[in-house]
Amino acid sequence: MTLRHVISAEQFDRRFLDGLFDDADTMAAALHSGTPPVSACGRIMATLFYEPSTRTRLSFEAAMHRLGGSVISTENAREFSSAAKGETVADTVRIVGGYADVIVIRHYERDSAEIASRFSPVPVINAGAGAGEHPSQAFLDLYTMKKEKGRIDGLKIALVGDLLHGRTVHSLARLLPLYDGMEIFFVSPPELRIPEEYVECLGRKGVLYNETHDFRAVEDADIIYMTRVQKERFSSEKKYARAKNCYVLGRKALGSLKHDAVIMHPLPRVGEVSPDIDSDQRAAYFRQAMNGLYVRMALLKHVLS
Ligand code: ASP
Repeated sequence: MTLRHVISAEQFDRRFLDGLFDDADTMAAALHSGTPPVSACGRIMATLFYEPSTRTRLSFEAAMHRLGGSVISTENAREFSSAAKGETVADTVRIVGGYADVIVIRHYERDSAEIASRFSPVPVINAGAGAGEHPSQAFLDLYTMKKEKGRIDGLKIALVGDLLHGRTVHSLARLLPLYDGMEIFFVSPPELRIPEEYVECLGRKGVLYNETHDFRAVEDADIIYMTRVQKERFSSEKKYARAKNCYVLGRKALGSLKHDAVIMHPLPRVGEVSPDIDSDQRAAYFRQAMNGLYVRMALLKHVLS
């Protein structure tokens, strides 16, 4: 599959993911043996971030450096790029695409990456588009499930928290039906339910799924995927305050989870996963963040080839 832009999880099939995960394994092994492949030597990646980021931006940038390429970057592009003067995303990527071989963009509008892809002369990777999608996070999430459990087929997965605004969950919900025998529990307060557009394909593809507000659904899950209530998407502080502590996974809840469950979180966490469970072997979120580097190295290799 030749890959030009990476905008939505909908673009991808299982064959692509299998290849990506094999490449990510190769990248991890090469990094640990001190011989990363320099497949991006002489290439330039531009990162345009209009919203805050730690892991996504830095892992993409580290990935590019590890592949022997270089990086140009505008962090806080909302304030410090020409966006502050009123420049559109379309104009920005037309220009930046002349300086770089690939553009990685995070923006507060959900159609931003798609618009960028229409105007950019080089591949665009969506690194988070408002409350829409975040496909590269979903790739690394699936890769983590595969590494932790040895398979993805047949897993019982609980996706927990702000499923209305959580873009990582939206992309994941579009990729999980590529696997067989999946069972998914969407666990959220009623006002933060996952939008219909991300679940409609599940029924069609024969995936078993359930929507509930009952946190006890996690007790039966192989993967517990916790998410943050997305403060920046709420129209008022009051509404956020009402929703923010809907679910907390701490020491007390650990006892009722499966002994071989895997606890994931795209991070940052702001209270929904208590640090007192970090030392439990089931807490996989720091390993998950590390996997982001390998998966993004593999993704950049695909996009630049
Ligand atoms: N880092 C993830 C994102 O950018 C998750 C989050 O912010 O809660 O979507």
